[in-house]
Amino acid sequence: MSIVVDRIRKTYGAQIALDDVTFTVNSGEIVGFIGPNGAGKSTMMKIICALLVPDSGSVKVNGCDPASGSLEIKKKLGYLPESNPLYPDMYVEEYLRYVAAIYRSDSKSGSRVRDIMGITGLLPEKNKKIAALSKGYRQRVGLAQAIIHEPEVLILDEPTSGLDPNQIIEIRNLISDLGSEKTVILSTHIMQEVEAICKRVIIINKGKIIANDLAENIGSYGISPSHTVVVEFKRDPERKIFDSILGVEQVKNLKPGTWLIQTSGETDIRADLFNLAVKHELVILSLHRKEKKLEDVFRELTLSNDTSIN
Ligand code: ADP
Ligand code: MG
Repeated sequence: MSIVVDRIRKTYGAQIALDDVTFTVNSGEIVGFIGPNGAGKSTMMKIICALLVPDSGSVKVNGCDPASGSLEIKKKLGYLPESNPLYPDMYVEEYLRYVAAIYRSDSKSGSRVRDIMGITGLLPEKNKKIAALSKGYRQRVGLAQAIIHEPEVLILDEPTSGLDPNQIIEIRNLISDLGSEKTVILSTHIMQEVEAICKRVIIINKGKIIANDLAENIGSYGISPSHTVVVEFKRDPERKIFDSILGVEQVKNLKPGTWLIQTSGETDIRADLFNLAVKHELVILSLHRKEKKLEDVFRELTLSNDTSIN
């Protein structure tokens, strides 16, 4: 099930939340939707789920407009809102039965509730009140309600925010498992999360899409192409020998024998370093190029004033 977002614009009074946003998510993809606070992520997700009406533009889920009121298309969408509002006084199982009943009235909803509690690891907590759950378990209840009707598209707004590191990994694994057979858009500001589970990354800033590419390609984005190499020598050379390398911007002695060399441009300087070592009779113990991390690209793109890249 694909999602096609075409020239969406949304304003709140004078505030432009989304400015001509266009992107496509293909069937079966897990896409990371990332951007700083206030970038427009939640607004976009609500519009996809037809909870908010855009000023202009269109959204199509599998060719249909979710705002058309068609129950068929609503059944195909699962949404985990950012603040995950739940009914604190309801018991876990009771709440999930209630949600299941909204979507189906057949006799199978009871077994579906049990299945979903199994998938999301909620069985041991099923008789607790939602208010008594830890944040991680509350998030599982949120995910359970988002997938109880077996939607083909999942829209998850910061599903791991506020969780501890162990809970983050558990929820992340759960999303990866679910994502193997669904189309997923996941917003987050945790870059490792995107690197761990998303095939594609869409970066949004100030209401505009500024990058949209496969996760493995995103390292080539950014305004300042740079190249960083970490080299380990058997004995420390003098710092000035690195001056002869073209475009050197930064030289750091990380620890005895180990140096970080950063150059501008995309040229690989590993061969230069090797030649330098030979010239100065230095023994290289290791030499590796540091890949630019999504985090670096994100900072470069969202902190820059020029948001018109791509
Ligand atoms: P994100 O989820 O990326 O943090 P949001 O979509 O929540 O961003 O918000 C985008 C922009 O729209 C922000 O500047 C925010 O202040 C504004 N905004 C969001 N909701 C409302 C609202 N109900 N009324 C007025 N402004 C809003
Ligand atoms: Mg948000």
